[in-house]
Amino acid sequence: MTVAVYAGSFDPITNGHLDIAVRASKIFDKLIIGIYRSPAGKTVLFDTKDRVAMAKKATKDFPNIEVRPFSGMVVDFAKKIGAQTMVRGLRMSTDFEREFEMALMNKKLCPELELVCLMTSLRYQFLSSSLLKEVASLGGDIESLVPEYVAKALRKKLVNKK
Ligand code: ADP
Repeated sequence: MTVAVYAGSFDPITNGHLDIAVRASKIFDKLIIGIYRSPAGKTVLFDTKDRVAMAKKATKDFPNIEVRPFSGMVVDFAKKIGAQTMVRGLRMSTDFEREFEMALMNKKLCPELELVCLMTSLRYQFLSSSLLKEVASLGGDIESLVPEYVAKALRKKLVNKK
């Protein structure tokens, strides 16, 4: 059975993440979305429980997608869940440089784990969780970028706070 891991902070999950996850779920028998409990160098807006719940809800119609939180290194998480491949999404050339660096380090740490990068769909090329949060905090229209309950949760956290 082919198992792949798609790891990230998913703070919160966006339609760009979902697009990559759904496409990857067609390539592998099982796709596990791994949600970093404490992503290195990032402060998260949503706690782990909320990020996992939103990702689970977003992928509920895809029986071969599973969502799990994890701590520590992604290579160790991949080993634990029996994943042979790691999936990443690429949006632009700056993603490529960062991904390339991480891929080489991960290869050193775990040579048997392969990496598959999927190119973003054109309509999500500009979409990142951080930009999304910025737009949401300014009251901008985010409806077409995230599932409806994610937009609601974002508005509750960011806009109503003001
Ligand atoms: P972000 O970069 O949005 O903060 P994550 O750290 O959760 O998100 O990213 C997890 C993975 O999803 C990374 O490989 C990232 O490049 C990818 N990704 C995020 N947004 C998109 C998008 N709009 N299109 C394609 N891949 C994406």
